[in-house]
Amino acid sequence: MILKNSRRLSQGDFNLSVVIHFTSLVGLAGHCLFIFLFLWLGVNQMAWLNIGSCAIFLFCFWLNWRGYPHLAMLFGILEVSAHAVVAVLFVGWESGFHYYMVCLIPLIYYSQSWRLPTKLWLTISLCGLYLGLYFYALWVPPLVVSNPARLGVIAVVNVITLFIVFSALAYYYRLSATNAEIALKQANLLLKQQAHNDALTRLANRHDLSEHIEAMVTSYQSNPEPFCVILTDIDDFKQYNDTYGHNAGDLILVKVADVLRSCMRDHDMVGRWGGEEFLALLPGTHAEGAKLVAERMRQNVAALIIPIGLTETRITMTFGISEFHADTDASSCINCADQAMYQGKVSGKNCVRVYEKRGMVGNAELRR
Ligand code: GH3
Ligand code: MG
Ligand code: MG
Repeated sequence: MILKNSRRLSQGDFNLSVVIHFTSLVGLAGHCLFIFLFLWLGVNQMAWLNIGSCAIFLFCFWLNWRGYPHLAMLFGILEVSAHAVVAVLFVGWESGFHYYMVCLIPLIYYSQSWRLPTKLWLTISLCGLYLGLYFYALWVPPLVVSNPARLGVIAVVNVITLFIVFSALAYYYRLSATNAEIALKQANLLLKQQAHNDALTRLANRHDLSEHIEAMVTSYQSNPEPFCVILTDIDDFKQYNDTYGHNAGDLILVKVADVLRSCMRDHDMVGRWGGEEFLALLPGTHAEGAKLVAERMRQNVAALIIPIGLTETRITMTFGISEFHADTDASSCINCADQAMYQGKVSGKNCVRVYEKRGMVGNAELRR
């Protein structure tokens, strides 16, 4: 487990924690190695200093594990800067410890909690320190005169470590950017699904149905292919809710949705119009064909046995059908289907009714 208290961190701080976790481990391992390298170089003071550095990186690791990545980073910045200063003082600029100060910049800017002025202030301070050390080393010789070949080995180790650290940082930054992209895509997909689907039944929602019927009406104007709307409503649904409870009511809605979906052809569409009402759109279909589809739906729903706890129940639905005509629009077509369904309700429910128009306006007749 990388972090003890990761759950209370924001995503940005968590990403920083992952980076601090690995950089503090690399820092710890590197400074352990440098204890031996400085003994080999004959600069015992630096070896002692590296023992202290190991302790600081261990402390950073612990702080980060406890859920304080920024505090850990601050200690890391102090350690790296102090180490660069002492190394330049003791063994000179050639040792290459100042390079690690450059590594701090991407770390500082990776933080999402530190504000830009803080980051700029730190950058300027590090840059000032870096240049200060450079000019100091130009004029003042190191306190310890060490073997140039062995010092060269230390510089090479530093350069290699620097490349490793930069590669690891770049890798983590890419990884967190990729993860953010994936999370964004998933959130977009979910939003899209929520915008178009009914959460309970997973059928198209009213918004999606409205968009589709408007599109069908528009395409009818250039290509007058027949299409029908079926509006259907569960009979006496309130009673089911009252008898078995709202959850059982929801289960009935899900089961009904499954049956209605199974009665659709590939190019048909069914969705939840609202409450316990469903609406189906049947392109390329005259009222006679829609009546067959609705009848199949009615029979399949009536045959459905719904288990509720230890008992089981059956339901019925009433269907109203309306065929679209050039002289109407989408909402009046749905309205006609609603009127047909209403007639079905008043004449005993569990039936299919077709709205039939005679003449240009009104004069509607409903037939079985
Ligand atoms: P009718 O045969 O005339 O359609 O009678 P009905 O009882 O089905 O009609 P009514 O409009 O009186 O009742 C509809 C009920 O549907 C009332 C409402 O609580 C219930 N309902 C609407 N949406 C949901 C839902 O998402 N879940 C559940 N469980 N019930 C719902
Ligand atoms: Mg009802
Ligand atoms: Mg209703």
